[in-house]
Amino acid sequence: MVTFLRLRTGLDAVVVIDNVALGPAIGGVRMRPEISASEVARLARAMTIKNALAGLPHGGAKAGIVSPALTGDDHERAMRAFACAMRQLTDYIPGPDMGTSETSMAYVRDEIGRAVGLPSALGGVPLDELGATGYGLAVCADVLDEAGLLRLDGARVIIQGMGAVGWHTARFLAERGATIIAVSDIRGATWNPAGLDVTALGAHKRSGGSAGEFAGGSAVPRDDILAFDCDLLVPAAQPDVITADNAGKISARVVLEGANIPLTAAAETELAERGVLCVPDVVANAGGVICGAAEYRGAGHAEAFAEIEEKIRDTTSELLERIRRQGMTPRAAALHMAGERLRVASDLRRKF
Ligand code: NAD
Repeated sequence: MVTFLRLRTGLDAVVVIDNVALGPAIGGVRMRPEISASEVARLARAMTIKNALAGLPHGGAKAGIVSPALTGDDHERAMRAFACAMRQLTDYIPGPDMGTSETSMAYVRDEIGRAVGLPSALGGVPLDELGATGYGLAVCADVLDEAGLLRLDGARVIIQGMGAVGWHTARFLAERGATIIAVSDIRGATWNPAGLDVTALGAHKRSGGSAGEFAGGSAVPRDDILAFDCDLLVPAAQPDVITADNAGKISARVVLEGANIPLTAAAETELAERGVLCVPDVVANAGGVICGAAEYRGAGHAEAFAEIEEKIRDTTSELLERIRRQGMTPRAAALHMAGERLRVASDLRRKF
């Protein structure tokens, strides 16, 4: 269901509720100057697939507010106006996305009584601060390790993007004995084949330093690290960073997709043909949505993380089994799995 809204502040917005077979749909509210209904619809479909694969009792949706990033009172007025305009869309539970934050969701919940990704003062589980998505990526790596596809102890890991996802992934993988040999951010990259000190790197990033300036490694051109020799590559920055043009240079044996669609379909196919295992974003980076759904139910930090562990473990194991049994690419196997779960749920909905 596509709903176009004109907010009382004069802004335009669109809400796309893609599928509610599994339950009320959760998805972020994106605030950007250029956002089309078709882009919001694609993102809503991705949420349907991710929520279904994660085994959540939630469908997929997304919203877009057509506006440059707003701050202060203007932001609050826009979010409250958005909430009031979509009050009747009771199948949609909004969450934060680009241009919106935990505070934005506090305004939405104040108006209409529902939102996820709330500040901790309102019972929220601060998923970026705690590293929910990075934790899920590490659990996914655990399953690959147990299946004999990756040996985490001593694995040489490269991470693109040192934000909420990338930094926590580095931390959780280092705890498992992996050696983080290179990382990047938008300003540059650092490399140390003997291993980067992840704690020192985190402190350096928090104090405003860029990856390339980190004293514990050598500065290297930002995008070169994608092609460095390693066991595990985690693109955790932007969409479409590995394409048909550079897929041939990837030497990792395993790729865990931390960002959303970091690989184009052509790149995924090429890597699959070369025997490189790419765990798709809809499986590997679901820690954040699992955390959001747990928060919505009233769970705290420990319960949310236990749920991330259980659900990512189950989905990754089933994905590996399907790849082995059905000879599908990981992306095709993931879509197949999501489709089956959605069909079972749809069949159980009232049809009369
Ligand atoms: P963030 O803004 O906290 O961090 C992004 C990081 O990537 C920054 O360090 C930035 O400097 C770096 N970066 C940007 N462009 C780069 C480039 N070309 N090369 C190298 N580094 C680059 O964002 P985040 O929350 O960590 O999210 C990262 C990606 O993961 C986004 O695509 C997001 O949509 C996706 N994602 C996030 C979550 C979550 O829980 N935060 C969950 C699922 C997917």
